[in-house]
Amino acid sequence: MAPPLTPMLRQYRAMKAQAGDALLLFHLGDFYECFFEDAVTVARALDLTLTARNKSAEEPVPMCGVPVRAADGYIARLVERGFKVAVCEQVQDPAEAAGLVDRAITRIVTPGVVTDPANLDARANNYLVALCLQSPRPGHDARRVAGPLADGGAAAVGLAALDASTGEFVACEVAAGRDLADELSRLAPREILVPAPLAASGLPDEVAQGAAEGRWRIEPRAAESFAVPGAVARLEALLGVSGVEGLGLGGRPLATGACGALLAYVEETQRVAPRHIGAPRPYAPGGTMALDEATRRSLEVLAPASGGDQGGRGRGAGSLLALLDLSVTAMGGRRIRRWLTYPLTRLADLAPRQALVAAAVAAGPARARLRSALDRVADVERLTAKAALRQANARDLAALGRSLAALPAVADAASAIAPELAARLDPLDDVAARLAATLVEDPPAGLKEGGMIRPGVHAELDELRSLREEGTGFIAKLEARERQRTGIASLKVGYNRVFGYYIEVTRPNLHLVPDDYERRQTLTQAERFVTPELKAYEEKVLSAEARILDLEYELFTELRDAVAAEARRIAAAADVVAELDAAAAFAEAAARYDYVRPELTEGTEIVIEEGRHPVIERMPLGERFVPNDVRLDTSANQILVVTGPNMAGKSTYLRQVALIVLMAQVGAFVPARSARIGLVDRIFSRIGAADDLSRGRSTFMVEMSETAAILRSATPRSLVILDELGRGTSTYDGLSLAWAVAEHLHDDPGLGCKTLFATHYHELTDLARTKPRVVNLTVAVTESDGRIVFLRKIVPGAASRSYGIQVARLAGVPEPVLARAQEVLANLEGDEFTESGQPRFARRGARRQAPAPQLALFGRDRAS
Ligand code: ADP
Ligand code: MG
Repeated sequence: MAPPLTPMLRQYRAMKAQAGDALLLFHLGDFYECFFEDAVTVARALDLTLTARNKSAEEPVPMCGVPVRAADGYIARLVERGFKVAVCEQVQDPAEAAGLVDRAITRIVTPGVVTDPANLDARANNYLVALCLQSPRPGHDARRVAGPLADGGAAAVGLAALDASTGEFVACEVAAGRDLADELSRLAPREILVPAPLAASGLPDEVAQGAAEGRWRIEPRAAESFAVPGAVARLEALLGVSGVEGLGLGGRPLATGACGALLAYVEETQRVAPRHIGAPRPYAPGGTMALDEATRRSLEVLAPASGGDQGGRGRGAGSLLALLDLSVTAMGGRRIRRWLTYPLTRLADLAPRQALVAAAVAAGPARARLRSALDRVADVERLTAKAALRQANARDLAALGRSLAALPAVADAASAIAPELAARLDPLDDVAARLAATLVEDPPAGLKEGGMIRPGVHAELDELRSLREEGTGFIAKLEARERQRTGIASLKVGYNRVFGYYIEVTRPNLHLVPDDYERRQTLTQAERFVTPELKAYEEKVLSAEARILDLEYELFTELRDAVAAEARRIAAAADVVAELDAAAAFAEAAARYDYVRPELTEGTEIVIEEGRHPVIERMPLGERFVPNDVRLDTSANQILVVTGPNMAGKSTYLRQVALIVLMAQVGAFVPARSARIGLVDRIFSRIGAADDLSRGRSTFMVEMSETAAILRSATPRSLVILDELGRGTSTYDGLSLAWAVAEHLHDDPGLGCKTLFATHYHELTDLARTKPRVVNLTVAVTESDGRIVFLRKIVPGAASRSYGIQVARLAGVPEPVLARAQEVLANLEGDEFTESGQPRFARRGARRQAPAPQLALFGRDRAS
């Protein structure tokens, strides 16, 4: 049997039991220590030395620790790795403890509830998501969840998402399966709350997969925490309302339950009422364009494809986001990311945003003034959240105060662009004034060391401070008086931490020391004394100092609570700031990059004159970017088959059309001479043989499953980009599949989606002969001296040949190989093959009886 635990370790065990599956950091003097299995986990995760408590004992207890001063960084690293961390503090002064110091868990940090801006990407939200779905009852199809049916027959799931660091709070109901997967990939949450019974019986694939890939952590929660009555009570308490009908959640029990689960979790982990969180904003993914992850990635909306960033954080250069995010505030940056993740599909929703951007484009000088005013606004959303969660220090509040003080200038500049929005911007003068009047210019980070509060704020504080300041004068006077009284010219009054105030007399003068001097300390050259007067003074000063620190802390927390009480007003102002900054950024991009305002219609035509690829045109190409037109409709130009040699510009053309449509539907201006965009409900973009090694599936399998998704979910209003479909398999398989897919997109009356199809299968150009809505396009090239020259111009017609060998020459493949390739090509084109599909080499047959091994590749295709 293990030896009994020490009282301290027993206390640790009790705390650990409370912490559940969180790692427990146990405050012990200057360290946070971990014990037992947590110590092993933490030592490994943070690369710390694992030691042991009771080393000599038979069963030493594994232990590791981090210094309290540096704990935040370590905690952030643990959370970044997907762990949940409970911080257990000493809540009693060790000097006052009779035995063991009292300890309590004061906060729990989890990946979904990170609130310290230092550990967050300023330009992305950090979402915690709750999913309210029921576990399958025994005897039911295990893959069907038992919620009410959403449109389309799939079970509905209640989804709520909260960024505790900003207060952003949204809720919706979506269909399980693909829609849920899309929504999760847009939100990119770090943690997902699910009912425990469901976690035990098997999570839906789309939820389980992200967890397996380390994209989010799953937190199973008791089923009761998703119950509607509890959720309503929580929302009522948070918002101070009675009934939640006014919130637009009526008739949405699953979304309501998800909101309740989120709030319960935040309260549990933060241990304070999150007053910065407002009413959840119900939204219908229906009004927005569903952009699945594959499309977002292939269009490089949020991150470049090579960046390895799967729709996560960061402003990956080379992405559409990096290009368009010219915002100057963190709120604006997050808003632009949201706009790009949720393009709009309804003209009525888009028109006001586009008008706002257009107004900002038109008003150049006002825009410049607006942006420079906005530049003085820090991340007020996150600063306010910190205040509401009682984590803000005086520097945070001072920064908040300075930001709020810039709001009148923001409103003033904005009134020339968007009078209504400007009028909606609460300048928060009262809060700004209180902050400015209370806090000193540049307060310290510590809360217990004073120096935060201005003079004139609190009478007693002022008095105590002048007492402290008078001190210097008092000591000088006392010193002079004592020198005179004793006749010791070298007598000094000093102070040290251990003995306090003293009078120092050097040895030769000791005989002059009067009777009322009391010895305190003996040094080699001198003795130190105190007098009753000096002692009384010391007491007064020291207690004044302590009282000053207490008072300052008290006044600071009062101020912080006052800010928290205004959190919703500040959040409303931050919302306007985000909108203005994001719109001004789009306008700035339009002006800098020469974009035009697209005409948005509810029709089905997409007509772009001289369109450009927004990202590639800005890259150093070594050649001028050549603009191209496009016309897509549902009558004569439904499917554009684009052929042309490798490197000619096919992929660029396809993507630029998709990006221009996407930009138009987020309210931005577009890189073109003119554009008329019939709004689309979805954009699908697929690249053949895209490497998706991270998922461990074969590229061809990925390609086909993505194609299947398009065939299943595209509508006549969708825009489909298929780039080299079928490249992932053998030539004839690929060609047949590509052919059949194109035919189906054309013929199926339910589809009819506008499609751009780039392919190196020239055979596909034959489709246009029989299919009335198929149009052939090609990228013009010319040849000079056997070298290919790319003209980058899209013209009607089919590529006459593939120019593969010329492109290989451009790429530096050695001449003998090219010559041989030319030879093989001639044979293939002349259909000179043996029975087994090997090319014949009549002229040079003697030397080449055994075909080179790579030729078997051609042979196999031919034979199959
Ligand atoms: P393909 O898909 O036909 O192989 P890409 O679209 O990948 O060709 O284009 C290859 C390269 O050609 C691009 O990276 C870019 O540098 C250049 N390019 C493509 N389109 C244009 C254009 N319209 N103007 C100038 N350069 C272009
Ligand atoms: Mg290509």
